[in-house]
Amino acid sequence: MADERSASHRQRGLSIVNAAPAEDVYDTGDEVSGEFRCAECDLLIKSPRENDGLLVLPVCALCSAERWRRVG
Ligand SMILES: [Zn+2]
Repeated sequence: MADERSASHRQRGLSIVNAAPAEDVYDTGDEVSGEFRCAECDLLIKSPRENDGLLVLPVCALCSAERWRRVG
C-alpha cells in the first residue's frame, strides 16, 4: 500500500499508530510462502515447491529464534 516517507512526521504526543509495520514479521507455526530470514541470525529459508508452496515456519535451526522476516 502507501509507503509514504513524510518529512513532516514528528513526535508531538499525538501520534497516529499505523497497523502496518515496515517489515513483515512472522512467527513459528505460521503458514507462509516465499523466502524468509531469521530475525535474529539472518538464516534464509524458502518454502518448498510441493505442498502448494506452503511452509510452516520452524524454530530457527541455528539460534532457536521464533521470528522470521519476509525477504523481498
Ligand atoms: Zn536464527
